[in-house]
Amino acid sequence: MEYSRKLSSEEIGQGYVFIDKKNWDFFPKPNQTFGVCVGELCHIAKIEAKDCTCMGEDKPQLHHHLILPAVKAKFKKGDSITITKKEDGTYDLVKK
Ligand SMILES: [Zn+2]
Repeated sequence: MEYSRKLSSEEIGQGYVFIDKKNWDFFPKPNQTFGVCVGELCHIAKIEAKDCTCMGEDKPQLHHHLILPAVKAKFKKGDSITITKKEDGTYDLVKK
């Protein structure tokens, strides 16, 4: 299993990767730290759950963000990335 996504300017600017709701189970629960390697450098990352009203003020929902400041320096808007999970429980993030 893997998670793929095209990065938006907001994700690059704030240093996170948006996680689709159907893929939440692919990642640890919010606020647990885990390793994400980008190239040869591995970083401590975590999922943050954020309140959101993008579906309307009357339909509050949660977003999950993979907090990873390294995406600011390593990628640019529109880059497609793929995240895979390794046997040791850490993740690899690569540009497609
Ligand atoms: Zn939303």
